[in-house]
Amino acid sequence: FIIPDFPDFTKYIEEFYWKCKTNTEGKVASYIPQLARMNPDYWGISVCTIDGQRFSIGDVNVPFTIQSCSKPLNYGIALEKLGQDIVHQYVGQEPSGCNFNELVLDHNKKPHNPMINAGAILVCALLKTLVKPEMSLAEKFDYVMNYFKRIAGGEYLGFNNAVFLSEREAADRNYALGFYMREHKCYPEKTNLKECMDFYFQCCSMEVTAESMSVMASTLANGGICPLTEEKVLKPDSVRDVLSLMHSCGMYDYSGQFAFKVGLPAKSGVCGGMLVVIPNVMGICSWSPPLDPLGNSCRGVQFCQELVQLFNFHPYDNL
Ligand code: GLN
Repeated sequence: FIIPDFPDFTKYIEEFYWKCKTNTEGKVASYIPQLARMNPDYWGISVCTIDGQRFSIGDVNVPFTIQSCSKPLNYGIALEKLGQDIVHQYVGQEPSGCNFNELVLDHNKKPHNPMINAGAILVCALLKTLVKPEMSLAEKFDYVMNYFKRIAGGEYLGFNNAVFLSEREAADRNYALGFYMREHKCYPEKTNLKECMDFYFQCCSMEVTAESMSVMASTLANGGICPLTEEKVLKPDSVRDVLSLMHSCGMYDYSGQFAFKVGLPAKSGVCGGMLVVIPNVMGICSWSPPLDPLGNSCRGVQFCQELVQLFNFHPYDNL
């Protein structure tokens, strides 16, 4: 086993869980009613090692919307289907140094990276327009949902239509980003912007549980092979690129500090979910809705700090 004494390891996870549970900082997202109504007490941690050992504690079977944690997955699928060269003709690899939905492009007039809204909308356009362009929006939705489900080893993946409708309704900033990128000719030819925006909102509105998302994280930790099904879902090269940008850009405008303090590739979402990858060891999902001012889950960030304080998971711990 990759973690020889798993029960001993999970005792520490449990200890961190209880410690972080007392953290009542942060506020749940309030830009749509479906998120504003979320119970701030939800708190769950799920672990899945690359050899399939599992541990979960707390609210790990309650569905929540994947939100921005869909961004690395979509980026991975785009890399898989189009290759790095084509994808990065359209989107950069640089942290933006701004909020995730800031109306800003890089000096080439491309979105900074695929982990912020502009870049993720662009990646949705690539998936919609360049990957199997003959597919209708309905077919493309099925296609991506099926892909996410394979990354999650067949575990829970749903769709929250109320969140989708609200996201689309309350999306002035995302539309502004969409049009701003069209003004600068960011999209591939034949892009239908309205369909791409819908597709982006649909991806954000997919539902996962902490358990199913821990399998997603573990597939990334395992170089693209799902530890449960042993299916090769993504190529190692695609996963390398996904993890690189999660490392530098996955935690919004806290990414630099997170890379310094924790050093692990991670991606947070506005619903409070966090995908955390310990390459070649395990995937972790934490879920707690209250967010700090930068948009990261307060308990999730604290949990990661506890984790690397005790275990040598920071990549520069073993020098
Ligand atoms: N649906 C959200 C948005 O586009 C997703 C962003 C996030 O999770 N931070 O604004």
